Amino acid sequence: MVWQVDLKGKTIVVTGGNRGIGLAISEQVAQAGAHVAIIYRSSKDAPEVAKKLAEKYDVHVEAYQVDVADQQAITDLFKKIYIDVGPIGGVVCNAGINAKKDALELTKEDFDQNFGPNVWGVFTCAQAAARLWKEHDYKNGRIVFVSSVSGTIANKGTQQAFYNPTKAAIISLAKTLAMEWASQGTLVNCLSPGYVLTDMNASLRDNPEEQKQIASETMVNRVSTPEEQAGTAVFLLSDYASYITGTQIIVDGGLHAW
Ligand code: NDP
Repeated sequence: MVWQVDLKGKTIVVTGGNRGIGLAISEQVAQAGAHVAIIYRSSKDAPEVAKKLAEKYDVHVEAYQVDVADQQAITDLFKKIYIDVGPIGGVVCNAGINAKKDALELTKEDFDQNFGPNVWGVFTCAQAAARLWKEHDYKNGRIVFVSSVSGTIANKGTQQAFYNPTKAAIISLAKTLAMEWASQGTLVNCLSPGYVLTDMNASLRDNPEEQKQIASETMVNRVSTPEEQAGTAVFLLSDYASYITGTQIIVDGGLHAW
């Protein structure tokens, strides 16, 4: 048997799919034959990113500029994607931010800034998909939340007092929704990355000394590429993961395990 992930005929929604971990997921999903609907917030080059992926893998890729925390806009967009790109088979709720500030300085605005996209925005997309699957009687829906190892252990460093709890919250949300939507055939899981070199970690990416220090805290003595995260998301979307729900897969090079 040849081990090959086949997502042909499916449309996969990837929030934050235009850069970082999300872009690697969009690319690997397209490589597996799926059409991709990328949701982004403000990056001007997102439509161009989508166009290049479509040309490279000969699939339909569209980029949509929407704030994931806008429930009505997300509900409307998912209906549009269903018609314009194709029946949605899976959603990767990857978009997120890490707005850092000392805990002593945090305000309700900071709370909303983190929890808006990272928790509420994850929920809006999951709900929009699950509602469509119920309406269409689709029994094989897949939802993948991109959490973080920091949802289980406290991230090294400071200024994470709202970010870490957002990541813990969506691990719980995945378990809860997995239970609630199991009867309609929807599987819900989390991918929990360790340190990945993306814009979110620009200071780490641009500082080789800090990178070395962080790398030494992992068992494999290095940080992760976005591509090393994407494979797990694609696996969770695939038929190989048909008996996995309500759990998280931690992809952190052994960071949390010692
Ligand atoms: P990036 O900062 O590189 O990219 C963030 C993406 O999310 C962008 O595409 C951005 O769109 C999109 N986005 C942010 N807010 C919204 C919003 N309100 N509505 C729609 N789209 C939005 O992040 P990473 O690739 O590093 O991280 C991706 C996910 O992985 C995040 O959830 C993060 O918490 C998690 N993670 C990252 C780790 C890391 O080390 N990098 C480690 C563990 C988890 P736009 O380009 O338009 O701004």
